[in-house]
Amino acid sequence: MIELAAVGGYSEVGRNMTAVKIGNDVVVLDIGLHMENYIHATNDEDVLNISAELLIKSESVPNVDSIRDWEGKVSLIIPSHAHLDHVGGIPYLCGRYPKADILAAPFTAAVLRNILNEEKIRIRNKIKTLDVNARYMQSDEVKVEFINITHSTPQSIIVAIHTKQGIILYANDFKFDLYPVIGKKPDFAKLRLMGDKGVLALIIDSTYAGWYQKMPSESVARQLLRDVLLGADNKGRAIIVTTFSSHIARLKSIVELGIKLDRKVVFLGRSLAKYVAAARDTGIADFTANVEVVKFKRQVSRRLKRIMKEGKDRYLIVMTGHQGEPNSSLYRLAHDELDFRLDPGDHVIFSCRTIPTPTNIANREYLEKLLTKKGARIFRDIHVSGHSAREDAREMISLVRPKHIIPAHAPLEMTSKMAELAYEMGYAEHKKYKYSPVAV
Ligand SMILES: [Zn+2]
Repeated sequence: MIELAAVGGYSEVGRNMTAVKIGNDVVVLDIGLHMENYIHATNDEDVLNISAELLIKSESVPNVDSIRDWEGKVSLIIPSHAHLDHVGGIPYLCGRYPKADILAAPFTAAVLRNILNEEKIRIRNKIKTLDVNARYMQSDEVKVEFINITHSTPQSIIVAIHTKQGIILYANDFKFDLYPVIGKKPDFAKLRLMGDKGVLALIIDSTYAGWYQKMPSESVARQLLRDVLLGADNKGRAIIVTTFSSHIARLKSIVELGIKLDRKVVFLGRSLAKYVAAARDTGIADFTANVEVVKFKRQVSRRLKRIMKEGKDRYLIVMTGHQGEPNSSLYRLAHDELDFRLDPGDHVIFSCRTIPTPTNIANREYLEKLLTKKGARIFRDIHVSGHSAREDAREMISLVRPKHIIPAHAPLEMTSKMAELAYEMGYAEHKKYKYSPVAV
C-alpha cells in the first residue's frame, strides 16, 4: 500500500513537505521554511536557541509531529530544488530521521552545504548528489528518478518515485519554459513516458492555478530587463537592481546587460554570495571574471563608499532587499545606513514581484516611499514568475495522465482552482478530501 502525507505547504505558500510511505519505506520530498514566520521567529533569537521545536511552534517549518509514527522509517529526503521553502528546513529537521540520506541535484546539494556551513549546523545524514535525469535505486520496491524541468533556480527537478503500484510524480515547483536562459528545456519525452508507464499520483504546483495563461519564459524577463537597462536614460545615474539571490538565470541576464552598458557589476550581500558560489562550484554559471561579489555587511558599506568616490555611473549594483526586508542592503541604503547617497534620477529596478503577504506588501511600500523621497526612479515588476500558470498545469496533466491529482504549494483559494481545472479535464472530486481538494 502507498500512503501519502501532506505535511506542509498544502494550504499556504511555504514550508513544503510531503512524505510518501511505500511498504515499510518512507521517502520525504522537501523540508522547507516558511520565510516570513522564520524571520519573525528567529529575528531576536540567539542562533544557539533556534531549535526544531521553536521552529515548529512558530510555524516556520512543517509540523513533522503529524508523521511521528513514520519517523523511524524515513530512508530518503529529497529536496526538489534550492529554494528555501523547499530545502531550508532540512538543517533543522533531518536529525529526526537519522537513518535517512539526503539526495539532491548537485546545485541543490551545494546550496544546502553552504547553508550548513554559514549557520554552523552539523548534521549526521549523508548528502548524496544525483544528476538531473539520473536514476537512484533505493530498494527493490523504490526507485527514484530526477526529471529535468524549468523553474527559477537551476537544476530544478520533478521527482519520480517508481513503485510497484505506479509512479508518484512530484512537480513542485515548475513551469514549462521553452526558451530558458540557463539549462535545458523541460524533458517532455520523459514526462510522456511516465504517463505511458502509469502515474498513480501527481503532486502539482498550484501557486498560479487561477491565472488563465501560460507562464511566459525567462527569456521574456531578460527582454524586460533589456528594455529598462538599455532603453531608459541612465547617463550619470546610479543603477541598482534587486532580485532573488537564487535566480542564477536572472543574475546572468543582469550581468550581461551590465557589460553591454560598460559598467562594472558588483553583487552585494550574503545570500547572493551563497548562491553565486554554488552556481560556480557546480559549473552552472561562473561570474568570477565579470562580477565582484561582496559578502559581509562591513565590506558592503566600504565598497559603496568607494563606488561613490569613483563615480556611481560606472557601476551596476545588484543587492538584496527586493521585498523590502528590514536589514537587507537596499533597506539600509534607503535608510542612509550605508555610505552611499541616492540622488534624484537614480534608478532602482525591482526584478521581482512583491510576494503578496501583508508583511511584504507593507515592507515594500515603506521602502519605496523612502526611495521616492530621495527622487529615485523606481522600476517595478521587471519579472516573470518561475511557477506554472493554469495552462502549464493543463499540459502537465495531459502529458502524465495521473490517476490522482493532488494540488499543492498554495492556499485553498488556488488549490481549488487547480481542482477546478482537473474537473474540467474530466476528473471527479475525491469526496474523502473535502478541505484540501484531491481529484481522481
Ligand atoms: Zn521554487
